[in-house]
Amino acid sequence: MKITQDKVAEIEYVLTVDGKVEDQSEPGDPLVYLHGHNNIIPGLEDALEGHEAGDKLSVTVTPENGYGERDDENVQVLPRADFDDDIEVGASYFAQSDDGSVNPFTVVSVSGDDVTVDFNPPLAGQTLNFEVTVVEVRDATAEELEHGHAHGEDMDDEDE
Ligand code: ZN
Repeated sequence: MKITQDKVAEIEYVLTVDGKVEDQSEPGDPLVYLHGHNNIIPGLEDALEGHEAGDKLSVTVTPENGYGERDDENVQVLPRADFDDDIEVGASYFAQSDDGSVNPFTVVSVSGDDVTVDFNPPLAGQTLNFEVTVVEVRDATAEELEHGHAHGEDMDDEDE
């Protein structure tokens, strides 16, 4: 079975940027995703189209097909009072906006009452190199299609 729209694929992957490993699936615990629903970055999803279990591929993803270009307007200064007592430079936090969406950001620096934060994804502007092995491809269940994402075998899906 090939990876096409509405299939569920299990992949093992190693993501490197400039030769440094940034992320990887744990051994025996592949990433499971529903193909064609923007659940993974577009450049990787496009490259996996048509592949099947056992295929190994190397994929280079440019920023525009990955996490986007860095946008300097995403670096903002927030008042110290908005934070709890301990702010850690380099740590990631979440901001909830008025519409209820949750946006992750990283603390860049703290100076007096100013906290400089960066809402850019950490890998924005980077060229991503994936080494991918396709482990399994299967049909999605009706529930998965309804939810728009894959369900793992041992996942509690009640409130997903
Ligand atoms: Zn679900």
